[in-house]
Amino acid sequence: MQATIDFIRSAFNSQEFIPLHEPRFNGNEKKYLNECIDSTFVSSVGKFVEQFEQMFADYVGAKYAIAAMNGTAALHIALLLADVEQDTEVITQPLTFIATANAISYCGAQPVFVDVDKDTLGLSPQALREFLQQQAKVENGQCINQTTGKVIKACLPMHTFGHPCRIDEITAICAQWHISVVEDAAESLGSYYQGQHTGTFGKVGAFSFNGNKVITSGGGGVIVTNDEALAKQAKHITTTAKVPHPYEYVHDQIGYNYRMTNLNAALLVAQMEQLDSFLAAKRRLAEEYQAFFSKKNMHWVAEPSNSQANYWLQTVILNSQAERDCFLKATNAQGVMTRPIWRLMNELEMFKHCQHGSLSNAKWLEQRAVNIPSSVRL
Ligand SMILES: *Cc1c(COP(=O)(O)O)cnc(C)c1O
Repeated sequence: MQATIDFIRSAFNSQEFIPLHEPRFNGNEKKYLNECIDSTFVSSVGKFVEQFEQMFADYVGAKYAIAAMNGTAALHIALLLADVEQDTEVITQPLTFIATANAISYCGAQPVFVDVDKDTLGLSPQALREFLQQQAKVENGQCINQTTGKVIKACLPMHTFGHPCRIDEITAICAQWHISVVEDAAESLGSYYQGQHTGTFGKVGAFSFNGNKVITSGGGGVIVTNDEALAKQAKHITTTAKVPHPYEYVHDQIGYNYRMTNLNAALLVAQMEQLDSFLAAKRRLAEEYQAFFSKKNMHWVAEPSNSQANYWLQTVILNSQAERDCFLKATNAQGVMTRPIWRLMNELEMFKHCQHGSLSNAKWLEQRAVNIPSSVRL
């Protein structure tokens, strides 16, 4: 234990408090923010939003990117684009940040929880297939949950801590069952599965730029898709569904004020310029952790086969919950920040009643996995 703490201190070359994940602003952030202020375009109009959207679409290899005010809002819109509506269902993993399940609820839909794989930490194609075979039938081109009688509209896998899940198998299963795939790629900017960027496999994908993510706009998110009609609809409903007109205010549906401000986009353009160097730095840290933990015979989570992870949050898996608790206590007491992973969604009050399959892998991970300091080092 003490050896691990000492190693983390030496890796970060610091005797002070070591946070889990700090943002870095080493590029054009101040310059672009000043440009914004000098131009007076700080709000919903300005060149940085479009510049960011183009940069982002090019980076991940999607046709369209639509900026939003945060990742949760981006997910909400992504689900609406996949026709997730009142009283339908969305299959997702229980091991995720609350935003995944909340976004489903905002649509008036119910989450259904299916287990994760232990190696990817993300939605398990095998568990998904088994759940559908036991529970679902296809009728008139729709997937019906035979227990609840509701339509399963979408599947929302998440690439946990930047480790890509088996997204090709998931999209193949969903195609067979007439279920749309929406990817929660909030944590996986810079992560690739078989050479293709995460978030671009499904009908729609959503990313987050919260302060703790690989790059940040303070708060921010983005929706990506290759479908032009969906992209137009995304822009329309994230910007109050206003019908373009020189001066009249006419709105043709219930829209949202989910747009990203030009200030946030200015920060984000500067962060995008540094993304590759951040990713390289995170990979160097990953290599050092890997060498250290393999010597210690400790289970450090490596990128799954066939994929390239961004190593957003580094993860170790302890041998038991008791061991994990000791690890959390000792590290945090000595100013090395570590965190358990999330309480499973199906254990939270709001989602207790939701249907789920066997969640033994998710439970196993919940009891043992810990995130350790992962910032880009200066
Ligand atoms: C960060 C995150 C989001 C979005 O969060 P915001 O704070 O709203 O940007 C969504 N899903 C997951 C899994 C996340 O980690």
